[in-house]
Amino acid sequence: MWYSNIENFKNANGYTIDGIWYPRVTSIVGIKAKPALYMYYAGLPSYKAGEAIKARSAEEGTLVHETIEAILKKEPVAIPPNIKPTVDAFNKFHSQHEIIPLKVEERVVSKRHGYAGTIDVLAEVDGRVGILDIKTSIAIYRDFGMQTAAYVEAFSEDPNLPPLASWILRLDQAKTCLLCGATMRDKGGNIKIRGEKDKNCSHQWSEMKGQCEIKELEGFEHNIKAFLAAKTLWEWENKEWLDKIK
Ligand SMILES: [Zn+2]
Repeated sequence: MWYSNIENFKNANGYTIDGIWYPRVTSIVGIKAKPALYMYYAGLPSYKAGEAIKARSAEEGTLVHETIEAILKKEPVAIPPNIKPTVDAFNKFHSQHEIIPLKVEERVVSKRHGYAGTIDVLAEVDGRVGILDIKTSIAIYRDFGMQTAAYVEAFSEDPNLPPLASWILRLDQAKTCLLCGATMRDKGGNIKIRGEKDKNCSHQWSEMKGQCEIKELEGFEHNIKAFLAAKTLWEWENKEWLDKIK
């Protein structure tokens, strides 16, 4: 990444809280290579096309976050038609589980390790308290564990909170081929068909159907160690800028 000046770097990579600048959890996690993601981008027609898809799917992701968080907070919300299947799947899940939101979209700081982030939701889910991170990805990746471990570690500095669990709430929507079982997703205007067993199938697509799953992430010790190692690497990468902040 290239930054024109120090303010630009600070805004892009962190938060200033009570006059102290902290790097952001998602920036730190971003230092880790993601080969599957590079493969995906390599399959697109151009760099520009990739950036457009990224921007549009980020927009859709934000919309899902805002809608789900409003539902959890019992605030009135209009359901955007393009994400309705996802919201329907969430509502079904929500009717089967007790979710009490304690904090939504809140800033969390680790003064001990020197980083900050914004959590989606801190909630009591079926009687246990933990980080509920909303993802609109097609799968639950191991990388998510580094991010949630960073939040859990930061919250552990608050003596009023119990030890926290980490959950990924994955929300997505897809059409399924009634003939061959392939799935079709539209992420940011990029139509992606997966699991085609028969390349010659004429595909008869179902209605768009939402998916909602929750997964508890295990291995906190392992994940926080990886996160702090990523932080060290991130600081190495950005040394020139960080020297200007100190
Ligand atoms: Zn098919």
